Amino acid sequence: MPAASRRGVRHQPAQTAPCRGHPLRQTRSALRSHRHHQHDRQLAPAPRTALMTHDLDRLPIPDYGDYFAALERHGQATILGDEPVKLPVEFARGCWWGQKHHCTFCGLNALGMGYRSKSPGRAMSELSTLLSAYPTVHVEAVDNILDMSYLSSFCTELADRRWDIHVFFEVKANLTREQLAVLRRAGILTIQPGIESLSTHVLKLMRKGSTKLLNIRLLKWARYHGIRVAWNLLAGFPGETDEDYREQVELIPLLHHLFPPDGCSRLWLERFSPYFTDPSFPISDVRPRSSYRHIYPDSLDHSQIAYFFDYTAKGIGSDEAFGALSSAARRWRQRWAEHRPSLIYQRVPGRLVLVDTRAEQPRRAVLTGWQAEAYELCGDRPHSADRIRAGLESAGHRVTTAEVGALLDQCCRSGVMVSEDGHYLSLAIPENPGWW
Ligand code: SF4
Repeated sequence: MPAASRRGVRHQPAQTAPCRGHPLRQTRSALRSHRHHQHDRQLAPAPRTALMTHDLDRLPIPDYGDYFAALERHGQATILGDEPVKLPVEFARGCWWGQKHHCTFCGLNALGMGYRSKSPGRAMSELSTLLSAYPTVHVEAVDNILDMSYLSSFCTELADRRWDIHVFFEVKANLTREQLAVLRRAGILTIQPGIESLSTHVLKLMRKGSTKLLNIRLLKWARYHGIRVAWNLLAGFPGETDEDYREQVELIPLLHHLFPPDGCSRLWLERFSPYFTDPSFPISDVRPRSSYRHIYPDSLDHSQIAYFFDYTAKGIGSDEAFGALSSAARRWRQRWAEHRPSLIYQRVPGRLVLVDTRAEQPRRAVLTGWQAEAYELCGDRPHSADRIRAGLESAGHRVTTAEVGALLDQCCRSGVMVSEDGHYLSLAIPENPGWW
């Protein structure tokens, strides 16, 4: 068993400790009866609290020798089919975002959100050791979230080494074009940015710290840099409305040139998440997921062993609204699989040529002069019309904010730009490969 897995097993008693304070009546009474049961039969020692490891540089490098020996014995194709072996590597624990704003649905890090990462030097030597020892080029970072300081240390050094590796990392969704370029150069070819929704209202309910426009920007520049994005659309957050879903359904056809979500589902209630532990959320009737009955005997107290729970939530979107979102996501995946739609722009002196194959009928449009520059100024981050006017003015164009606003609104109506709260983001991706 890999060292990481062994460690996970050792930490189980500490991971279950927080549920002793669980506020939901049903689970609390189940826990009480479980403790009585333990006391009566003198079965188990009192739960102990495991110590949290703060200095990750002191951890041993995992030994995957047994795994690769077994793989060779049984034949890789028999075990994995066409899938490559992916080396799990741990660079950090905890979550620096969750430390400040715990996402309402997230049950990760039961031991505490406190973020700590390996030093860049240690991270590099561990990765080098593992890649030298085992016959694979695929690396799966098991971290909850990339250490942002790695962008100017570990990632840049990785890029300098020019290894032909394929690395996966979970990241925050607000990465910029330049930051994604750093990841791409480092061989980080797949990311999971926790996009979760294309509705700013729903993202706020999740405490995700992102917006519709930032999520779209991530998808856009990831496509440009050739980084695959693994993500899901989530629904079922108390406080959401059908309008939140109707807006996403309208938006999705404009995004068919970007990586589609892998799935669309209602949220799963996880132990340790704020939705599970905070009774102020309108979530009730919490009980272990019924599927546990197919795996574990009834003699076990499922409320003690469950991580996922069935529940009833108030104030969530209707089944119809959710169904429409699921269909839109499915259609997006279909279009992507069929012919990878594109929306690109070509840049020549004095004009931009937009070439759009998202719809059945390809379209072209041309923007000239200051209008071409205004479109491009909305490429890297969402800007207001006045901010764009200021940018144009410093480039020598005399236009009013109203004229700029009218152009950007027209771009939105044409489906080559999106806006929110007076901020605009262009959707087309430059054809030129020089935006690194
Ligand atoms: S969902 Fe991700 S970003 Fe949010 S708290 Fe959990 S690990 Fe952190």
